[in-house]
Amino acid sequence: MNNPCLFCRIINGEIPAEKLYEDEEIFAFRDISPQAPTHFLVIPKKHLSGPGAMASEDETLIGKVVRIGAQLARENGVEQCRLVMNNGAEAGQTVFHLHLHVLGGRAMSWPPG
Ligand code: 5GP
Ligand code: ZN
Repeated sequence: MNNPCLFCRIINGEIPAEKLYEDEEIFAFRDISPQAPTHFLVIPKKHLSGPGAMASEDETLIGKVVRIGAQLARENGVEQCRLVMNNGAEAGQTVFHLHLHVLGGRAMSWPPG
């Protein structure tokens, strides 16, 4: 049976995406609907529905997601960026596979909408 998770299917290559980075644990790809000149997503290959589903054993992995996100931003010419994880539908989460948004290339305001 097909994995119903959209981002698991992107990792598996079932759904095409513009990949920026991949290793044995992490996958990064451009957001299909960019909200800034640079907008990509960094995800663990391990399926976690969101930050709220993390166990202590996932801390190193998700730390790596953050480190790779900032590093990829730099490599793509964005020194300063916003790193966002939405946790739950009310917070704006629409895909329930943990992902870090990396946004840059324009000035950001605060608070977010
Ligand atoms: P969320 O709202 O869950 O924090 O973020 C989900 C993100 O995934 C959104 O920014 C949305 O544009 C992006 N997205 C949804 N479907 C696809 C897709 O099929 N391909 C890619 N590359 N991004 C997607
Ligand atoms: Zn998944």
